[in-house]
Amino acid sequence: MNKVTIIGCGSVGSTIAYTLTVTGIASSIVMVDVNNERAQGEAMDIIQGTPFCGPCAIHAGDYSDAVGSDIVIITAGVARKPGQSRLDLAQINVNILKSIISSVVKYAPDANYIIVSNPVDVLTYAFCKLSGVPEERVIGSGTILDTARLRSRLSECCAINQLNVHAYVFGEHGDSSFVPWTTANIANVPILQYNEVRSGEKLPPLAYDDIEDYVRKSGARIIQGKGATYYAVAISVCHICKALLDGIDTAMTVSTMLHGEYGIDDVCLSIVNVVGNKGAHTKVLLPLSPEEEAMLRKSADSLKAVINSITI
Ligand code: NAD
Repeated sequence: MNKVTIIGCGSVGSTIAYTLTVTGIASSIVMVDVNNERAQGEAMDIIQGTPFCGPCAIHAGDYSDAVGSDIVIITAGVARKPGQSRLDLAQINVNILKSIISSVVKYAPDANYIIVSNPVDVLTYAFCKLSGVPEERVIGSGTILDTARLRSRLSECCAINQLNVHAYVFGEHGDSSFVPWTTANIANVPILQYNEVRSGEKLPPLAYDDIEDYVRKSGARIIQGKGATYYAVAISVCHICKALLDGIDTAMTVSTMLHGEYGIDDVCLSIVNVVGNKGAHTKVLLPLSPEEEAMLRKSADSLKAVINSITI
């Protein structure tokens, strides 16, 4: 049985539950929310579709129902309103996280924890410091969503299948994120050379800054347009769940505690991690240019400034 508990059943939590069900990744889902009526409504709505996809037990519960979970996903908290930055939410959502840690870890001490609530890097750091759960089992969704946004954009710009695009977003899930372009490739060709080696009509030159801007601003643009973002983040979180549950080691950008990698210590942010059934057990240190390393350290510094400005 692949059991997943989701804490916070708003737009993001319930879309994750829906996606886990439709893809067959989970066979048992517990949905917990301070608004129990909401959790019950969401669970009922999803389970009523299961006769046409796959068997999955889904019910609204409380923290004690998290017993035996393989994964606990935290999406509880206050979401960004138009014009609000992820960091504006820091202290409010850290306080919510603290109450969740003391309620859930005693029931699911051996689970893998995925933190999604924002600011996700700060909350992942707080979870590592406060929960007592081994660090490799604490995974912030970090820039996995930004990486998905980048790859989908590059696939449009390069007129190629998304699966042929290998590129990552590093750093904070937020304003100081960046793309280490020297590591990006399309179908094994460094992206900086792709247009040269491609036969036929040339593609318009890639506007690297515009693409990064698109990635950084697309969360805010979607919130402006429809009030919340949830489909792409749900698919991204399910990708993490699949690696954890299948145990097929998979490289991805997620937020984990750093211990000296790229000269950065005691902060959570996204670099490439290998995720499998032992959690985020290995980091892959992609060779970065000196400028890219400096951008990563700058991103770490801006996260540390937030951490130092709040009470954990
Ligand atoms: P939402 O307001 O729709 O849902 C939040 C839910 O959390 C609500 O149902 C609320 O009742 C519940 N909640 C609040 N306090 C709780 C508590 N103490 N215990 C249990 N449940 C509690 O918000 P949303 O759009 O689903 O977003 C949720 C979080 O995910 C936000 O912090 C948002 O910024 C974040 N988010 C992160 C990413 C990412 O890539 N990391 C992407 C999108 C959204």
